[in-house]
Order: sequence, then structure tokens, then C-alpha cells
Amino acid sequence: MSGKSDQGRKELLRLLPKIDLLVPHLGEEAPKGLRVRACRQVVDSLRTKILSGHLDATEPLSLDHVVELARRRLEELLSPSLRRVVNATGVVVHTNLGRSLLPESVIRHMEETARNYSNLEYDLAKGERGSRYSHVEEILCELTGAEAALVVNNNAGAVLITLGTLAAGREVVVSRGELVEIGGSFRIPDVMARSGAILREVGATNRTHLRDYEAAICDETALLMKVHQSNFQVVGFTKSVSVSELAALGRERGLPVYEDLGSGNLVDFGRYGLIHEPTVQESIAAGADVVSFSGDKLLGGPQAGIIVGRRSLLDKIKKNPLNRALRIDKLTLASLEALLHIYREPDRAVQEIPTLRMLLADVEGIRRSALSLARGIRRLGLEGLEVDVEPCISRVGGGALPLQELKSWAVVLGHPMGAAELEKRLRHHSPPVIVRVENDRVVMDVRTLQDGERSIVIGALEAALV
Ligand SMILES: *Cc1c(COP(=O)(O)O)cnc(C)c1O
Repeated sequence: MSGKSDQGRKELLRLLPKIDLLVPHLGEEAPKGLRVRACRQVVDSLRTKILSGHLDATEPLSLDHVVELARRRLEELLSPSLRRVVNATGVVVHTNLGRSLLPESVIRHMEETARNYSNLEYDLAKGERGSRYSHVEEILCELTGAEAALVVNNNAGAVLITLGTLAAGREVVVSRGELVEIGGSFRIPDVMARSGAILREVGATNRTHLRDYEAAICDETALLMKVHQSNFQVVGFTKSVSVSELAALGRERGLPVYEDLGSGNLVDFGRYGLIHEPTVQESIAAGADVVSFSGDKLLGGPQAGIIVGRRSLLDKIKKNPLNRALRIDKLTLASLEALLHIYREPDRAVQEIPTLRMLLADVEGIRRSALSLARGIRRLGLEGLEVDVEPCISRVGGGALPLQELKSWAVVLGHPMGAAELEKRLRHHSPPVIVRVENDRVVMDVRTLQDGERSIVIGALEAALV
């Protein structure tokens, strides 16, 4: 807190330039309304700083300086709010940073679809109205072994429409250990309530047996549901019922079985040295009647909720009026279709799909990349900056593979200004560089840096420290 008296503050407030006087300094190009808004915001923020005692010098209030601040603010108002950032956190499927990056071939197909008319809902063979889902249904069935498929806006929507169609007003049996919260306030019991289905919890948090499901089935039962424990794991004295056991029970009692796989993946990560995550194909093969999963988690595509399963059930879901409300747009459809084509060759998928490539990146390559970045930073000769290369652990993110520790390498920075300040400066760079802070040091895990981004990081550090 400053020692300025009330009198001193009043004098500072008097120095604040008038808006009318500021605006003409911002030229004529930008719309008048935006120029005025930029000036107002800058003056308001200076006033707040004076009143709270965070500004007690006269220099920052000079006309030149305030005009410069207003120019920068106007620049921000004129540029898009949603923009690229550099992800140096090492969290691969980072929900706050946009989850998955699309492969080049996918972007090209999306671009072509954006620029031109398309057969989105037009059957070219028959010359009549077609279905937008036809473009991905066949390939989804081919890849998963399911009879039918549908795609909606996201997996939360997929859960909502599936429960609402198959179980509204009736009971859905779910294990207590699977009533997950995903983050962003998505909780299975809440979504179930919204769908109109009635939750029938069975078992205990750590153990649920087949007999628990059996005992819960009654005339009101519509569905047996299994939810993948995406973002946590119960360890120790545990027991859960597999999809195939549940499917056998469902067949015996004439009840469909629905699995919300959460992330959902089409390649077997176990084959590539990671912890095995159940694939969509496995769930279908084990007898699940309906399976839903996300497009932008481990699948590495656009935001979407994919529903696959038995034709008779999918037909009902397709006819639900909610389907129209949850439908995906043509750009999502274009990118999803192009992505699924890559999955026809799993070895190509793990090379070309950035999410998979980053997850499976060779740790020696990551180390070399970290060393090279550290060399580039040291070459700047920035005073006071300590640069180290250290092993670290990357995370899969996206509420998937919570126990998977991905061995990685980071460039670690120390500076007298403190890691919090350095982190903030990197975040305010254009493009922003997002890093982790640990033990008052900035940690940049290079696993999630893309081609060409090392030079951006170096430029950001130079701008932050000179
Ligand atoms: C992530 C997740 C969802 C929600 O998927 P979105 O695509 O983010 O809407 C639903 N269920 C489970 C189990 C999940 O892990």
C-alpha cells in the first residue's frame, strides 16, 4: 500500500486525460465506438489503480503513455479473442487449450468443405435429399464393428440423447463407483436427471458385483449402463463388472447395455507401450448394445459425440427431436470423416494424428528437442536467467488414462523476478506461451511443442526479459 494521502490521490485523478482528448490520438481507421471503448477502459483501469493505491507516480499518467496504452487496448479489441497459443504444459489433451490438434489432411478436407457447396444432405447417386450422417456412418461401423452410428455435438450430448431415448421415465442401473464427474460440471447423475431417466445406483463405491445389478432389475428397468472411470481409478479392494458380464445379463433379461466410454479410442495403446485403454471395438465385441465416446479426446479429432451400436436402438436415437438440437455442423463432419479414414491404418494414425503422435513420442527425441531449445535460450545471453534441462512427467489430460505417467523432458527456467512474473510475461506474449510453474521455476515440457514453436518460445523469452 502506498503512502499517498487522499490529497495526493485527488491530484493524480485530476491528471487522468479526458476521453475526448484521448480519442483523436487513435486515428480514424477503427470504428469510433471501439476507439472510445479502448480509451475508457484504459482510463478506468488507471483510476482503479490510483484509488487502490497501486499507482502513486505521475509518469504513467502522461498523455504519451496513456495514448500508448489505449493504442494497445484498441489493437486487442480489433483482434480475435480466440487465438493460437503455445502449449508448453506437457498436457496433451488439454481441455482449456482446445483438446486435440487436427492432422493436415483433415484440415484440408475441412477447408475444402468450408469453401465450397457440398453434398452435406444430398444423395448424389439418387439425386435427392440425403442424410448428413451417411458420410461417417459406414466408416464408423467398419472401424468399430457396430451395426449403426450417429454423431452429435459432443459426448455429453450423446449421453443425454441416449438416456433420454432409451430410458426416459424408467430406470437405468449404474454402479456407484461409476457416477463420475468429468469437470465443467458434467456429472452422470445430473445428466441422467435431465434426460428424464431415473438413476438406480447399485453396489458400493469400490465394489460392485453382477448380483447387485441382478437384484436391481425390475419392471421399471430400461437399461443397464456402464460408465468408464475416465479421470480417476479406484485401487485396492475393488470389484467391477465387465461389459461382457453385463451384456450376458442384459441378454438374459432382455435389457440393452449402454457403455459411456468417455474418451474412446480406436487404437490399442497397449500395443504402443502405454496402459491399455478399452477400445470402442472391444466394447462392441464384448456385447455392448450402445457405446458413446468423444471425438476430441484420445481420438484426436474435432469436438463430437459419437454413438455406435445396434441398428434398432440407433434408429430410435436418430428419431429423437433432440438429435436436431444436438446435430453437428458440416465442418465437424468433414474433419471427422477425414480423421476416421486415417484410422483404417492404425500405424499411420499414430504418426499423423497429433494427439496420438504426442502421446507416443519417443522420449529420446523429446530430450534432444529440450536440449536444442535450451541451447537456443542460452544463446540469447539473458541476464539472470538460469536454464536447465530436466526429466519430467507429461499428462494425457482430457480425463483419460489418469494413471499414465508419460516420461518426458522439460526446459526449466529460474529468474530473480520470480517464476510467477515470468509465467505472466510469457502468457502475455503474442502468441501466448502457456507454461507450468513448480517450486518457483518455470517448467516447459517440450512434448506438446509443435514444429516451429521452439523459435516462438525463444522470442517470447527475449521479449519478456530484455
Ligand atoms: C469426457 C467425458 C464425457 C463428456 O464428453 P465431452 O465430449 O467432453 O462432452 C462424458 N462421459 C465421460 C465418461 C467422459 O470421460
